[in-house]
Amino acid sequence: MKIDYSIKYSARKTISIIVERDRSVVVRAPLNTSKELIDGEISKRKFLLFQKINHPQKYNLPRERKEFVSGEALLYFGKYYKLEVSERLFTGIEFDNKFIISKTNQKEAKQLLKTWYITQAEIKIIPKVKHFAGHLGVKYKKISILDLKYRWGSCTPKDNINFNWRLIKAPGFVIDYIIVHELTHLLESNHTPEFWNIVSVQLPHYNKAKDWLKENGDLLETEF
Ligand SMILES: [Zn+2]
Repeated sequence: MKIDYSIKYSARKTISIIVERDRSVVVRAPLNTSKELIDGEISKRKFLLFQKINHPQKYNLPRERKEFVSGEALLYFGKYYKLEVSERLFTGIEFDNKFIISKTNQKEAKQLLKTWYITQAEIKIIPKVKHFAGHLGVKYKKISILDLKYRWGSCTPKDNINFNWRLIKAPGFVIDYIIVHELTHLLESNHTPEFWNIVSVQLPHYNKAKDWLKENGDLLETEF
């Protein structure tokens, strides 16, 4: 099982590996990254890449730049849903087991979808934060859903907690993990054994979430 790929070098910090719509594999790597290192990354993700290349679904594979055309797949709450561009006139985004946008708003699709995601993130994430804060017995000042760069969540020295709106693309168990992780930092600022102990009391299978984040970390690097 050999995976062919092309490499695009640029002034970036991390390696990302994507399967394009035509199922070709593209590695984006920092300048001067060795071929051995890239081969190593490819073989680490070999199984997943192989699955993606051979994905039976007809609609677009994830990770390519979004064009917001009918049939495109958008990730939400851990699942992919198709986008439908409708002839019907309406404002905003409709969601009914698929995303629907009016053709007249297609140009603003990115902004409309982002607004929709942020609203969903607020509806779904904030009650979960309250729930876990109760379990952990911690107090925080303010929860914000923000356009964070390169992070899923953070907590500030003033006990405010922030979450990246892109987190709403992740499955529920991953959202729970990020929430518990950030709230646990209110009790223990470093990743000490005690920190992980507290996390595992709330979420015994938190490693599953860590694995998901490792595989899907590149979602953080995409603008949308
Ligand atoms: Zn942490």
